Amino acid sequence: MNFLQIRDLEQQFGSPFFLLDVNTLRNNHKKIDDAFRSRYPRFIIGYSYKTNYLPFLCKEMRRLGAYAEVVSRLEYDLALKIGVNPENIIFNGPLKTAEDVELALDNGSLLNIDSLYELEYIRDYCIENQYKMVKVGLRVNLNIYNNSETRIQEGYKISRFGICVSNGNFEYAINKLNKIKNLKIVGLHGHISTSERKVSTYKQITMELCKLAHDYIGDSLEYIDIGGGIFGELPASFHIQAPSFDDYAEAVSSVLNQEFSEIENKPYLILEPGISMVANTFTFISKVVEVKKVQDKYFVLIDGSVHNIRPTLHKRNLPMEVVKQYNETTPIETYNVVGYTCMEKDYLAHNVFGELPEIGDYILFENVGAYTIVFNPPFIKERPGIVAVDHGAFFIVRRKETLNEFVNENLYVF
Ligand SMILES: *Cc1c(COP(=O)(O)O)cnc(C)c1O
Repeated sequence: MNFLQIRDLEQQFGSPFFLLDVNTLRNNHKKIDDAFRSRYPRFIIGYSYKTNYLPFLCKEMRRLGAYAEVVSRLEYDLALKIGVNPENIIFNGPLKTAEDVELALDNGSLLNIDSLYELEYIRDYCIENQYKMVKVGLRVNLNIYNNSETRIQEGYKISRFGICVSNGNFEYAINKLNKIKNLKIVGLHGHISTSERKVSTYKQITMELCKLAHDYIGDSLEYIDIGGGIFGELPASFHIQAPSFDDYAEAVSSVLNQEFSEIENKPYLILEPGISMVANTFTFISKVVEVKKVQDKYFVLIDGSVHNIRPTLHKRNLPMEVVKQYNETTPIETYNVVGYTCMEKDYLAHNVFGELPEIGDYILFENVGAYTIVFNPPFIKERPGIVAVDHGAFFIVRRKETLNEFVNENLYVF
């Protein structure tokens, strides 16, 4: 985009703003779907809501045929509000009340038990619904991270999610559930967030889930859910050689096709992409307000904040583009891009080397679709608008927040 195009958008929608490229989203969906479905036709995408639950985006995912993967009652209700068929909602996560379990099971949603406390809710539900065959899945805590090369995110040695196989809890849960006459265990779920997101990890998850399914579930198995966490297409500036969707799909489907070669009614494979579906679909567009020199260092102040683009405060600079107002060249310098908050750590980019931006220029940050908008705290300034572009048309999908929404009078007592 050139300066005049951005200025036109700024005049319509304010600055800063996020820009969602709907076509990139569709392409991501198609690439993931094609890679897996061509190798294993019984394939389902469960889009991970928490990664970015912008309603417009979730609705587009629904239109594309994706299930909604939710990890709280709030997200569950959002999926219903978006119009997702309840049978196409996958309810995961560590926190579920008895009412949540009841609603999900009444609705025929897929429910994956994360902890033993949920067993009681399931049992009570089955007693109250004696004439209904109740179906549940189990999230498994696999031991794959004992392999020293694979690290759980944030450097933890073990994951806290799911029911542990190695200490016998998994078998305990299975036995407990098998005592309920009107209940079938139909699925196993094995999401693990690793830093490396390696193909071999997904192969191993699939193998372990298949083995558990053979040993404990047998004919009632309807799905193997390997969770999310795969790499999407990364910006070149990250210098990471990420596996392709085909690489992941090949590793996972080869296991499934082998394990279930004899079986006519093969289980569904569920993948729950978050980051790989949405990270590269958003750009953040902000304006330079000041270029300041402190001692010998340059600080380019913009009207956005690190909270807009890197709320997890990871250290990597995002791909960045300066769109200049004037054509004249400016001195080449090393500079930091800093935000409007009063936090010293509010750096949107560290030590950028290039032509020094000027007041009135725009700075674009790419690859900001995952764990950004949902994580943006209501801190100091209202949250920006979100604009979508589809077939060349630009339209608002979230208006810029106002004071009344920031300090909502239905919530706050003045
Ligand atoms: C967060 C999460 C995902 C999505 O993970 P990404 O790394 O964003 O792909 C999928 N499934 C579950 C259960 C999750 O908690």
